[in-house]
Amino acid sequence: MIAVRHLTILGSTGSIGVSTLDVVARHPDRFRVVALTANKSVQKILEQCRRFEPRYAVLLDETSAERLQVEVRRAGLATEVLWGVDSLEKVASLPDVDTVMAAIVGAAGIRPTFAAAATGKRVLLANKETMVMAGRIFTDVVKENHATLLPIDSEHNAIFQSLPQHFSGDLRAVGVRRILLTASGGPFRQMPLSALENVTPGQACAHPNWVMGQKISVDSATMMNKGLEVIEAHWLFEASPEQIEVVIHPQSIIHSMVEYVDGSVLAQLGNPDMRTPIAHALGFPERIETGVNPLDMFKVARLDFEAPDFERFPCLRLAYQALASGGSAPAVLNAANEVAVDSFLKCLMPFTSIPAMIEDVMQTIGRRDIATLDDVLAADGMAREAAQEWLTCLA
Ligand code: NAD
Ligand code: MG
Repeated sequence: MIAVRHLTILGSTGSIGVSTLDVVARHPDRFRVVALTANKSVQKILEQCRRFEPRYAVLLDETSAERLQVEVRRAGLATEVLWGVDSLEKVASLPDVDTVMAAIVGAAGIRPTFAAAATGKRVLLANKETMVMAGRIFTDVVKENHATLLPIDSEHNAIFQSLPQHFSGDLRAVGVRRILLTASGGPFRQMPLSALENVTPGQACAHPNWVMGQKISVDSATMMNKGLEVIEAHWLFEASPEQIEVVIHPQSIIHSMVEYVDGSVLAQLGNPDMRTPIAHALGFPERIETGVNPLDMFKVARLDFEAPDFERFPCLRLAYQALASGGSAPAVLNAANEVAVDSFLKCLMPFTSIPAMIEDVMQTIGRRDIATLDDVLAADGMAREAAQEWLTCLA
């Protein structure tokens, strides 16, 4: 008999959340949805409540939650509607939930993701920002509470799949020389540098291979996404910065590779569809159906690789710099990036100001030691303030 998994999906209305529910719906015998959460998308979460009949639906925003409450009653559903960060933490740590998909975007995901780890859940980690901001503290909480961490980010999921099953944090002990983290290079990989100044949010969000939320799409265009992923890989696999090499691979068919001391390189390949890593983590260690099209090698025909261009993508350099500095630096990098991306999306500043703002904020704030989650949140807050000030000076 299959053991039924009881799920909380944080960020259920987003790109990862929707793909997760797509996989879940294919396996009604395996999964029960206990809680769904979103920021304020009333209609989307209402549809999901109709379909999956969760016990809880949580919105961050109180007014939206009130509207949802009315709709849920009208639809005759038994779902209890809650709101606020405390409720997000509550549904991430319910005693009868064993699996939490952490798919809120940005630093907003940190508290509920921590709550899931602190209560020993199987944490399916899409919210890479938690790992970037608080890598050491978060991995400690995972270990202390016997939580299980499974990476959803396609690259990290590919690395996880390419490592031996008995890997327990010592790359050398399992004969790994390097991790080769692949990156598509985003929509601006070949655009003349002089044209980057004038790119629009629409162009930045038009990723050549993946359909994703707006924030990660812009991160892919600046390659900050890969920078955040280098930091994520550092904490997930205890890899030093020298053990992580970024490889541009425009087709996004190889989702990352692991190089061993004997010269073997193991990779995970597939069509760029997040349902594959999501299903891998949902079913682990079993393999389950996803509806993803089989990979047609003849259609793919070729796989290309090139080295990353740090002049074109200064965000990648800044991320390596933050990782080397340690302490609060990655949290500051992340917060400044969130403000910068948001400002670019609102047309308050040009694309090329994103790395400029982040670099200035990192310099202004400097580095502090981090011992607790509160220290992380304080660094995050300071960086956001400095970024807002930077924006004011720009205007
Ligand atoms: P998205 O913008 O599509 O969805 C974000 C979800 O979080 C939504 O449900 C939204 O309602 C919720 N949310 C937003 N702000 C919130 C807040 N302040 N409080 C509570 N909930 C909030 O984002 P996405 O593309 O699904 O990405 C989610 C996470 O997964 C990100 O950390 C991203 O880096 C990571 N990720 C995404 C992909 C992808 O293909 N989309 C791939 C790898 C990793
Ligand atoms: Mg990724």
